[in-house]
Amino acid sequence: MAANTLSYSEKVNVTNCDREPIHIIARAQAHGVILVCHPDSMEITQCSDNVGKILGISLDEVLSKNLSDILPSDLTKNLQKKLNSGETLLPEEVKFRNKNFFLIPHLSGENLVIDIEPFGESIDPVLFQEQLTKILNELGNTGSVKEMCQQAVSLVKYLFNYNRVMMYRFDEEWNGEVVAEVKEDGMESWLGLHYPATDIPKPAREIFMKQGVRIISDVQYKPSPIQPELSPINNKPLDISGSELRGVSPIHIEYLQNMKVGASLTAAIILNGKLWGLLACHHNSPKFINYHQRQSCRFLTQVFSNKLALKTTKTFLEKLQQSEKIRKELVMQMNSMADLSAALVKFKPKFTDLVACSGGAIYYQGKLCLSGSTPSEEEVMSLLHNFLAERKEKVFQTKSLKKFYSPAENFKDKASGILCIEIGEEKQDYLIWFRAEATKSVSWGGNPEKNGYVKDGVEYLSPRKSFERWTEKVSGAAKAWEAYDFEAAQNLRESISHVVVKKQKDEINELNKNLSEANAELETFSYSVSHDLRAPLRGIDGYARILQENYKEKLDEYGQNALNTILGSAEKMEELIEDILSYSKVGQTKCVQQLFSLQNLVEEIIASQSLKSQFPNTKLSIGNLPKINGDRRMIKQLMANLLENAFKYSSGKQHPEVVIGCKYEDEKNIYFVKDNGIGFNPEHQDKIFDVFSRLAGEEYSGTGVGLAIAKRVVEKHNGSIWVETAPGKGSSFYFTLKEEE
Ligand code: ADP
Repeated sequence: MAANTLSYSEKVNVTNCDREPIHIIARAQAHGVILVCHPDSMEITQCSDNVGKILGISLDEVLSKNLSDILPSDLTKNLQKKLNSGETLLPEEVKFRNKNFFLIPHLSGENLVIDIEPFGESIDPVLFQEQLTKILNELGNTGSVKEMCQQAVSLVKYLFNYNRVMMYRFDEEWNGEVVAEVKEDGMESWLGLHYPATDIPKPAREIFMKQGVRIISDVQYKPSPIQPELSPINNKPLDISGSELRGVSPIHIEYLQNMKVGASLTAAIILNGKLWGLLACHHNSPKFINYHQRQSCRFLTQVFSNKLALKTTKTFLEKLQQSEKIRKELVMQMNSMADLSAALVKFKPKFTDLVACSGGAIYYQGKLCLSGSTPSEEEVMSLLHNFLAERKEKVFQTKSLKKFYSPAENFKDKASGILCIEIGEEKQDYLIWFRAEATKSVSWGGNPEKNGYVKDGVEYLSPRKSFERWTEKVSGAAKAWEAYDFEAAQNLRESISHVVVKKQKDEINELNKNLSEANAELETFSYSVSHDLRAPLRGIDGYARILQENYKEKLDEYGQNALNTILGSAEKMEELIEDILSYSKVGQTKCVQQLFSLQNLVEEIIASQSLKSQFPNTKLSIGNLPKINGDRRMIKQLMANLLENAFKYSSGKQHPEVVIGCKYEDEKNIYFVKDNGIGFNPEHQDKIFDVFSRLAGEEYSGTGVGLAIAKRVVEKHNGSIWVETAPGKGSSFYFTLKEEE
């Protein structure tokens, strides 16, 4: 909602309290004048109606005049010069009708806003310097944050002498707690009181962030409206959030009146760009501190914020250092044990020692493991399945689980707070730390539930009428997780994934090792079986031949056919055994590299296999073949198999052709053997390189081992082999070798 759609006079109800347009409340506090000028012409466009009381001139005498008509002209010129050059506008002292004032200019959009406020008690520059030095010396960053806060409030009390000075710290929900206090004797202590977030609504917090230090010099003051209400420059409500004299929200005034406060000073403590807390000063009667004093206060809060940042960073690093030590030990445990869950819970340190917690749970590979004080197994399992598995973030933390997951009410004594990290990528393994409910009593400054009243059906904001202690037991909340807890959990998460990946890698390596051992065993087995089969096979073949030669006449036709089948089968088996043995040999033999002529090798094969006489119709073309660096015996087997296939599978053609060659592409030699034979369906182009894989029918002899040998040879040379083919269109076999220089 645009802030300017709500005017000050509108009622503010509980639902719109965060939209109360306090930055455009067009009123000034009573102790000073807000004057608005056109930054180019210096014509006065707006002014608070207390101008008569403060400066002794009427509103009519001011409006539409030029600033130089009422203030010294050199001051106006100086201001204009700074505006033109874009220089920072600085406060100036000015004498007006024998009275000293502070002039504090700033730009608010198209308006030049000038706060004119009394000079107040004049401070001797030496004293001012002393104040700043005292601030620097006394605000240490030793001791706890609470001790630092106590130092700061004591110093502020000493410097500005308000009746009560408090440090008010916000929690993550913007509720506040008084964490340090100094007060006059006889005043009731508010130390430890909590205030609900609605006490300092969002717009007020935003203005605190912007302005830093803010005073209300007299809570009972009569606000001075700025005339006219809308800026004549742009016809919009004037944004006076940057004004030191900005009027106060009537709700806030009522709030202060209820607390019997006469004047206040509030300074923002900003830590890492976020409002951490407020330095709140209350005085029983009206009290004004001047611009210089407010500057000292700004300086003080700045120094305090810096020290606080240092302190929190130091604590963060110390805690992290402690948790790092534990994390490293956990990693060692995880590395030395197969069972990851056991490594994290069965020894010292446990993963629950990493952050302050009451217990923890590991859910890994479908197994739940609990440690310390935790909800029951069933409760943790349903938390995992019904809540955590649904969440998107890898790390989830809350101090009050029941706000997100209502069944947590049943185990809040064990796990009000949880910090959960997902381990692994699959959303199924988790590590959880639990924090029991912090059964602390909270003293609220008034009942936070009763913060409004209903009139005519609208709920109105009403500051609490009573500030007696009202105690509420905060239920279902644990001590909040700190940034270092979060960081420690994240770091452990990374370590676990490293360990898991390493373990998986080791497992794969182990499996690979086992596999190659099994393969080697199988090779040896098949080699020895094939080898041992040869002797009985020779026996079968030999005796079958004796039968054929000497007892042929004694056998009838059936007997003779049977004998021929025995001889044919024995021959086929011999061939098969030979091929298996060659295949195994290639697997077991090391490559012996040598440089040789592929041309000579091919010619040798053609001659030894009598390819020309076996296939007299085949036209053979041999291209220019280079010298090869590789294992000659193996490559001979490879080429022999490819050539034999090319001749064999093209022999049925009318004009069979075989081409052997080599082409140079992509910086390597690609060797090929092409034919115009039967070809085959390319969907089998990978399968045919497997042992015993045959596509051709019985009319073509073969064992289905030739191409498997070819592939092995190529792989031994770190090369590759592939085929381009189509049924009836011939086949082209290609291979490459990684030839050593
Ligand atoms: P085989 O002893 O059966 O020839 P290979 O391992 O050498 O065994 O070849 C496997 C299968 O690949 C063959 O059975 C055949 O179906 C097919 N094949 C191999 N080379 C060719 C080719 N040049 N033309 C057509 N088919 C081929």
